[in-house]
Amino acid sequence: MQSKNWIGGEWMVPAGNEVTVVNPSRTAEEVGVVRFSDRSHVFAAEHAAREAQKKWSQMTGAARAEILYQMASVLEAHAEELARLASQEMGKQIGEMRGEVARGVSLLRYYAGEGMRANGSVIPSADTNVLQYTKRVPLGVVAVITPWNFPVAIPIWKIAPALICGNTVIWKPAENGSLTATRLAELFAETKLPAGVLNLVIGRGREVGSALTEEAAVDAVSFTGSSATGRQIAIACAGRNIKYQTEMGGKNAAVVLADADLDKVVPILLSGAFKSAGQKCTATSRIIVEKGIYQQLAERLQSAISSCVVGEALDPAAYLGPVASREQYEKVSRYVEMASEQAALVAQSPALAMTEQGFYFRPMIVEGVKATHALVQEEVFGPLAVLLPAEDFAEAVDLCNQTVYGLSASLFTRDLASAHRFLDVAQAGMVRVNQETAGVEYQAPFGGMKQSSSHTREQGQAALDFYTEIKTCAIKYAW
Ligand code: NAD
Repeated sequence: MQSKNWIGGEWMVPAGNEVTVVNPSRTAEEVGVVRFSDRSHVFAAEHAAREAQKKWSQMTGAARAEILYQMASVLEAHAEELARLASQEMGKQIGEMRGEVARGVSLLRYYAGEGMRANGSVIPSADTNVLQYTKRVPLGVVAVITPWNFPVAIPIWKIAPALICGNTVIWKPAENGSLTATRLAELFAETKLPAGVLNLVIGRGREVGSALTEEAAVDAVSFTGSSATGRQIAIACAGRNIKYQTEMGGKNAAVVLADADLDKVVPILLSGAFKSAGQKCTATSRIIVEKGIYQQLAERLQSAISSCVVGEALDPAAYLGPVASREQYEKVSRYVEMASEQAALVAQSPALAMTEQGFYFRPMIVEGVKATHALVQEEVFGPLAVLLPAEDFAEAVDLCNQTVYGLSASLFTRDLASAHRFLDVAQAGMVRVNQETAGVEYQAPFGGMKQSSSHTREQGQAALDFYTEIKTCAIKYAW
């Protein structure tokens, strides 16, 4: 397979150097080739999106919805093919990847429904014979910049609400999600989506991404990725006074109180920490435990972790696959080394049984480091979690909040008062009780506090707030 740009309804392969994509599950296998765009493709996409926006924004919500329903159907019909391609490109285990594509289908249908829903309010006027009301209007051309860890769902949870609100989109996917992005755009090209409404520009962040956020005349940027890139984008957009949203990193904590039902809790902790090989922004990377049950929980994790079998991404029996790329492998290796030198091992999954070479790690849980240690403070983005003891609920909450991030946090307890207290005081955008830190549903707002997010939310109805501007309208209909 070869990556391609889709600009103004035309397919083209940029002339940039060819980069071979290897399968992270078996690095001897080539999955396809990617050619990166230059800045000129960004400007071509900007022109196409601007032209298309005039007509697209004038179509009725119902007509735009019809196209989103078509996008959902074509994606559903090719779900298995796309899930397998993404698994081979970035290593997510096939069962999880199928779930991700299904979420994409649901998101398209959910936002299609918005084409027919009320989107304003009538506000009583103090004057006579005045009708005063609000309506939502599109922003214009939106740049969508996405990471590799959810190569289908994240683009769709930005593109679908942007389109239904009447915006057109320039999408720059992550470098190592380029093949999946190309195939997804090919599927959407089978619908009646007018030329230029959705444009795909394959490229590197530092060249194409920055041209999109710093130079192209876009009206908004929706970004998901690392905090370092997000900060750069926020600065650029603030300087140009265009709307932006940056969804960034996390260091999510699961707090386990002494009264928790450990039979139920242990599988949820493992799933939160190790599914997707720990490469979810909402992954559980700190497990904070009341001292009374610390030893008991550690022993249970030791025995349960044997079920976290590492395998090739396409192996349905694998609990997790490899990490996504050589770059990820090197980054996570540094933390694994740090853990083996500076922390004590609590639990680790069985030895790898693979014959193929790939970017694999055996999931591990460690203990014995201070709350200020890099393993407790930095986002690892791999299958490594840290266990921390807490004297009581109050200390557990302090530890939970002792991070620059604030994406997701969970509490495990049977006590309703502690549950509500935690939902009040945990500094995270998504707070959950007896639930994994990951797995927030698409119809609910998604986003973080502190350094995890830029004060907006994605998904659910919250996405409509980002992709529209509110106009206050007033008509004096009789003198
Ligand atoms: P990244 O920041 O390296 O890249 C994300 C995207 O930004 C890519 O498309 C990349 O090409 C582009 N980019 C890079 N430099 C750019 C620049 N200067 N200007 C414009 N665009 C640029 O992140 P990643 O490694 O792909 O993704 C992993 C990170 O994403 C993790 O930190 C993870 O926590 C975060 N993430 C957050 C959420 C969330 O919703 N909060 C969801 C998933 C992933």
